[in-house]
Amino acid sequence: MIPSTVIVVGGVAGGMSAAARLRRLDEQARIIVLERGPDVSFANCGLPYHVSGEIPDRSALLVQTPAGLAASLALDVRTGHEVTGLDAAAKTVQVATPIGDTTLSYDALILSPGAAAAIPPLPGIDHPRVRTLRTVQDAVDLRGMVTSGATDAVVIGAGFIGLEAAEALRHAGLNVTVVEFAPHVLPPLEDEMAWWLARELDRLGIAVKTGVSVNRIDDADGRALATLSDGTTVAADLVVLSVGTRINSAVFEAAGVACERGAIIVDDHGRTNLPDVYACGDAVLSVDAVTGSRRPVQLAGPANRAGRLVADALRTPSARPLPTLLGTAIVRVGQLTAAMTGANSASLTAAGRDFATIRVHPGNHAGYYPGSTQMHLLVHVDRATGALLGAQGVGGDGVDKRLDVLATAMRGGLTAPQLLELDLCYSPPYGSAKDPITMIGLVADNLLTGQAAFWQPEELPWARREAYLLDVRTPQEFATGHLPEAVNIAHTALRGRLDEVRQAAAGRSIAVMCQSGVRSYIAHRVLAAAGLQSSTLTGGMLTLRAWLGDQAASVLV
Ligand code: FAD
Repeated sequence: MIPSTVIVVGGVAGGMSAAARLRRLDEQARIIVLERGPDVSFANCGLPYHVSGEIPDRSALLVQTPAGLAASLALDVRTGHEVTGLDAAAKTVQVATPIGDTTLSYDALILSPGAAAAIPPLPGIDHPRVRTLRTVQDAVDLRGMVTSGATDAVVIGAGFIGLEAAEALRHAGLNVTVVEFAPHVLPPLEDEMAWWLARELDRLGIAVKTGVSVNRIDDADGRALATLSDGTTVAADLVVLSVGTRINSAVFEAAGVACERGAIIVDDHGRTNLPDVYACGDAVLSVDAVTGSRRPVQLAGPANRAGRLVADALRTPSARPLPTLLGTAIVRVGQLTAAMTGANSASLTAAGRDFATIRVHPGNHAGYYPGSTQMHLLVHVDRATGALLGAQGVGGDGVDKRLDVLATAMRGGLTAPQLLELDLCYSPPYGSAKDPITMIGLVADNLLTGQAAFWQPEELPWARREAYLLDVRTPQEFATGHLPEAVNIAHTALRGRLDEVRQAAAGRSIAVMCQSGVRSYIAHRVLAAAGLQSSTLTGGMLTLRAWLGDQAASVLV
């Protein structure tokens, strides 16, 4: 029997996973990997840490070499080979190689061409000081600029890669300005979560300009001079452009591969509309596990997994389908970690979901054990069913663990109240007997059973105008900043002052708040037992301050 030929386009996360898996399933197949760049299997995710100097040696980013892959997996890996055309009827690809063009035949074709950095058509964007961070060479170039005396940097775009680049450059000692068009850094984060990151960026000495775009780049004696939409200018020795991606699908779309806004449309086994043509990774449309919407999810874990599953689909009738995606992602910014999974409030609102948001601000481990740090977690919960719809966290140690537990719970179909049923490991250096995850479960259970009622920061105008606002923190805490309409009765004094509260509320709903939401919940139960209608501010003053952001100074007295 003539062994079949499988051509893989793209030799990094998705493509190389597909090729390696295929070899393990089929010892006879000819597997050719075509990669237009000089490297395969490189660690995209490690690039920022080479720029910072934390990964000093470039070679550490090269996880595999063509020679190593030939030796261990009998893969025919060809770097410097760019696929420039596809003839699906003839089952051939046209390839530009270092020694000229050629045509290769395939029995099956796997596309994992990923995405390139988007380059907006701005005047001066081709200035030699403007760089992207996508390849090993990009990282090496940026590192070279850093070590040869660059002092000032501008990062355009404060998404994951932009923030990592900013942190890396600051770590290397540069003055860094981040320019972000959206109202806050890391746009998928909720406003209140992004506020904690903004504070950390400030602490790191990174200047952040949000709600502003770069209009043009000019040359200033060899440096780049960025003119911003607010009329200001920033001079820099290097500019990192990280404003999103452009999917490398044009060649394939032109050959008839069905795409939506540049992303390749695949079924749940990675099959495109063309016979024997499969696709995976950053270049494809994935199905959002929560909203069902289709969007590219450009993350390494899903790309690696999809490569494997597409190879399975080629060789195994019972291959697992590609899972829908939660888009679980994480980023380090200084001493903080920000992580998220599932949908955020904007996408839930767009999808018409009726949800409540729960916030908790627990320690990462028992407060009495040295070194405990506070984390800020929020979870979006379906009001009717308690389904977990999305979660975000910002804090120090342990945020990654909590978000991974939440992502696992979501994948497993646990509801938010069921989180309290999880048996999680605990000892004081690691957590608390009531882990932050347990806390979310307890609060969700209270919400779903009606034991607790919450008001959200978005309802602040209602609370100030129509409710009786009761702040149950201590007088000392109250003095550090409170809503001007709030009446202060510490929760420990509330039981003795119920008549006063009843009279002052005069039939109005009572909007209770405290520092984090624990004492206001106790107060809510006291009020409920006295027949008074009340609700507690989820996340308390910690959430409200973060949600108000820069406005806190003018709203609180
Ligand atoms: P890629 O890894 O981009 O590989 C595609 C390859 O195809 C490229 O090498 C390209 O040269 C090649 N190619 C394209 N067109 C052709 C063609 N016509 N012919 C031949 N070759 C072609 N994800 C995370 O989950 N966590 C992180 O911390 C993280 N950090 C990142 C940091 C940076 C700086 C970057 C750039 C990405 C990061 N990612 C991270 C994203 C992650 O790297 C990608 O999701 C993943 O690499 C996608 O794999 P892929 O195979 O789809 O595409």
